[in-house]
Amino acid sequence: MGNEQANDFMGTHLMTTHAQKRMSTPDIKRNLLPFEEALAICLSEVKDPLATEQLSLMASLGRILREDIISQYFIPPFNKSMMDGYAVKFADVENASVEDPVRLKVIGDAPAGTFNTKVIQSGESIRIMTGAPVPAGADTVIALEDTISIGEDSVDILGCFKDNHFIIEKGKDMIPGQVIIKKGEKITPAVMGMIANCGASHINVSRRPRIGILSTGNELVNPGDIPKEGQIFDINGYSLFGLAKHYGADVSYLGIAKDNCEDVSRFIESYYKWDILILSGGVSVGDYDVVHDALQKLDVDEIFWRVRIKPGKPLFFGKKESSLIFGLPGNPVSALTNFLMFILPVMDKMTGKASTGLKKGYARVLNNCLLKPGRRKFLRGKFDNSSSHNGVFIMSEQKSGIFRPLVESDVLLEVHEDVKYVKEGDIVKIYYLNNDIVAS
Ligand code: AMP
Ligand code: MG
Repeated sequence: MGNEQANDFMGTHLMTTHAQKRMSTPDIKRNLLPFEEALAICLSEVKDPLATEQLSLMASLGRILREDIISQYFIPPFNKSMMDGYAVKFADVENASVEDPVRLKVIGDAPAGTFNTKVIQSGESIRIMTGAPVPAGADTVIALEDTISIGEDSVDILGCFKDNHFIIEKGKDMIPGQVIIKKGEKITPAVMGMIANCGASHINVSRRPRIGILSTGNELVNPGDIPKEGQIFDINGYSLFGLAKHYGADVSYLGIAKDNCEDVSRFIESYYKWDILILSGGVSVGDYDVVHDALQKLDVDEIFWRVRIKPGKPLFFGKKESSLIFGLPGNPVSALTNFLMFILPVMDKMTGKASTGLKKGYARVLNNCLLKPGRRKFLRGKFDNSSSHNGVFIMSEQKSGIFRPLVESDVLLEVHEDVKYVKEGDIVKIYYLNNDIVAS
């Protein structure tokens, strides 16, 4: 373990039950917790998943499944026609052509939703509709457009592509006893359809995490108010509320607290209502950064404070009884990035989701970018998938106080703390920002 790393681990962040003293700037730098360490600690505080509840399938959209969905049936339950046409024996028609059609007797009809019990013999066919069970004796369906009807009870077959054509065999989608959707999956529209396909009307899912969101700062006013000199609108209350809601929480926006311990404490006191309480602003080391003191006074167990990342360094993580408490920095980009990197994985683990956090991948960088080494970076980036380019542009504006580039981003690029510059052509790890949370 190198000196720098050793310092990280020697820090008082890990599992201290009492808050840290204020430190000088060099001390703070030395004691920053590495990203992976901080994330692992957050996840380790989620001991058990939240309770489950049984919901009707339609009410379960967006929830996390907490049981395996096992097929009870063969799907399709019979050999099914994919076309309107004629059910035939392949051996009868394999040499049919436009020039030399094969004439077959039509012995009946097979509309969808019925079961024709006739057995086709050589030289015979049954008029069949899409979705109908293929009658016994037939092994191929000829599409209507490759036939000419000759009166009521004969048909000319003009060609046949191959054996078993236009038939979906019984059990091709699933057979009884197969695990179709595993527990831990999110109920997306396609997953919902697949569960319906299994015949399940009610399923066990995780209850929603309860999340409270509090903004802090003397300078903040609500959108709709007229800001006075020196005042700004509360962004974080809205973006964090939106994120928590988007990712399935039962979320309450608690409002704006002033930068004094009493006001902040009023809100923290009701910690027990929330699985996760999120505060933003006032968590750094400035004169008006009172969140840390307020948390201390209420005997919140400090688990860590300050992480070796950019943006989002001042992140506080603590707990009180079964509530997890996050204090995020006030800069809107930092707060949002902290949410995605730490709180989302925690929510996912709470709900029993199989994969936690944003979807990850790798991408080629399309421009050069100089960086100050020291902290893990999460840079805003935008895809260019036009034919000449294929990769990610690092946004030129990376200041955490400027929100707009984030809204226009597609990904966060993760760059290791030692890296001094990213070059065009480098392959970097990316976190996908789903269009539903940025601009679509
Ligand atoms: P702080 O973390 O309180 O030092 O705040 C850092 C920066 O973020 C300051 O410029 C604050 O004015 C700004 N800020 C804090 N909270 C919010 C918020 N809820 N919405 C928008 N900006 C904020
Ligand atoms: Mg502040």
